[in-house]
Amino acid sequence: MDRNPGLEKLCLHTITTRPWSLDEAVDAYCANGVSGISVWQDAALKTGLSQAAKILSASDLSVVSYVRGGFFPHPSDIQRQKAIDHNRKMLDEAALLGAPLLVMVCGASPDQSLATSRDQILTGLESILPYAESLGVRLGIEPLHPMYADTRSAICNLQTANDIAEKLAHPDCGVVVDVYHLWWDPQVEIEIIRCGQAGNLFAYHICDWKVPTVDMLNDRGLMGEGCIPLKQIRGWIEKAGFQGFHEVEIFSEHHWNRDQHEFLRDIVRAYQDHS
Ligand code: ZN
Repeated sequence: MDRNPGLEKLCLHTITTRPWSLDEAVDAYCANGVSGISVWQDAALKTGLSQAAKILSASDLSVVSYVRGGFFPHPSDIQRQKAIDHNRKMLDEAALLGAPLLVMVCGASPDQSLATSRDQILTGLESILPYAESLGVRLGIEPLHPMYADTRSAICNLQTANDIAEKLAHPDCGVVVDVYHLWWDPQVEIEIIRCGQAGNLFAYHICDWKVPTVDMLNDRGLMGEGCIPLKQIRGWIEKAGFQGFHEVEIFSEHHWNRDQHEFLRDIVRAYQDHS
């Protein structure tokens, strides 16, 4: 199928249109010229995995990633083993859905130091990499904004994510650059180039940072609604050699409460005008 000019790299995360079932999302994305889909686990499980796999393979959308594994750190050995088992299951699901990448939100525990959590993340990634490789699914470490360092991620900037990816030095382990988490960092241009040169730039997520942001999790903006220099960051990504999808990932109570068809039309427009 000829894709709409200018939208060849546009991908949506299912969570962006959370009110829709996977079926509804796939139909609407295709009807609006979207080229790729990143599938969140809740959307896939609600539909049923094998049904979800059928819907995806029958569509014209490229499956870009499965979201999200990780959450390795925990003071308890048993809990850490559970996390590793859970990640293996996520890898099975990603493979079943035809997703080439599992996005890793690596986790943190407020009951231990961030350095300990980072060690456990490294161990966790190391232990699932051979399995990921056997399934043909890559792992993408996504650094999160430091406001999530308590429970969601001990990896709070791109430098730390690059350090871990380079330490693991495995072709199936790389990094996910999400503008929402990284736009503020004075080192981000240098680290994006470093990431690309090391062959570790696996994915690129976009949205905007609203002013003011009224909720730490669910108040992300549509591109152009906030203060992230999206075109500048896109320039750095391209300079780093990245040629993959531009994935729109917006958690927003405000936008979820709107008519999702209207929201999707706004996303396509905002993607063309502001990113
Ligand atoms: Zn992201």
